[in-house]
Amino acid sequence: MRKYFIFNLVLEIVKCVLCGRESSKPVCEICTKQIIMDYPFLIRRGLAVGDFEGNLEDEPEILFEKDIEKLNEMAKNALMGRDSNFLLLSRYAILFHERFSDILKNFEIEENYYLNLAKEFASRSEDSESKYLLAKIYMEEDDPEGAEKVMETIWKEKREYALLYGRSLVASGKWGRAIEIYNEMLGENKDDKEVWKLLAEALYSSGNYEDAERAYLRVLQMDKDDYEAWYLRGLCLKNMNKWGGALQSFQTAVRKNPKYKEAYEEILNILVERGMYSRALETLKKMKEEGFDVDERMKEIEGRMKGWTL
Ligand SMILES: [Zn+2]
Repeated sequence: MRKYFIFNLVLEIVKCVLCGRESSKPVCEICTKQIIMDYPFLIRRGLAVGDFEGNLEDEPEILFEKDIEKLNEMAKNALMGRDSNFLLLSRYAILFHERFSDILKNFEIEENYYLNLAKEFASRSEDSESKYLLAKIYMEEDDPEGAEKVMETIWKEKREYALLYGRSLVASGKWGRAIEIYNEMLGENKDDKEVWKLLAEALYSSGNYEDAERAYLRVLQMDKDDYEAWYLRGLCLKNMNKWGGALQSFQTAVRKNPKYKEAYEEILNILVERGMYSRALETLKKMKEEGFDVDERMKEIEGRMKGWTL
């Protein structure tokens, strides 16, 4: 059971390893063009050694060597305009983008080669799953509006589609629409903690701290140990100038997760701003016990306390 080892030559090579022409990459421009035509996934015998274990059809994570040949053959035919399993090809192109983008530096090729390949395949198919992949690619390319357009018509079909749709809306700052989507999802399943958190986040980002805080409370009813939700609820309260509640919420967050640096910082800010130095010092001592380097800050607070008592 040998795994593929992608060849990884040192750059600054002056000659193409395949034809000997001068080239800044291990494989020159002309050879790259040739390889893309015959092996669109770039991995082939001779450029990679060994084999993956698994089956092409039902396990996209793992590949046999013969499957790579099959995959290249399918892709080649698809790119020549023949009908194919575009969804499968697109999935693999995304997988290669995530896992094997490193090999691209050996070729005279653009950085987003696999992503563009995935896009090409996904856009050839009309089914929802391909559209979903296409939207994921748009997100990867930092084009949330492209993703949004694709997901607009299919988001109701599946929970994961709706989540991606919401994510695309949030990424382009369309909080109102994202909130609508999350509310609609909660109408279907009111115990979906992840969606409650997303709703809370969208509400918070839109400046509606009151409803955001209420949404975090819902999350905490479902899972009182969700320290992140305690922290985020604290931020909502802080934004509403409810300092006591905020302080309590941040303190619960660090009780649930004693390594939670951001929550400690919020606690310290509140205490120091209010001149509650001895409590600030207690917090710093607790941080020190947890391994944070706070000696300087302890000295500073002790200094302030001296000034205060004099
Ligand atoms: Zn060459």
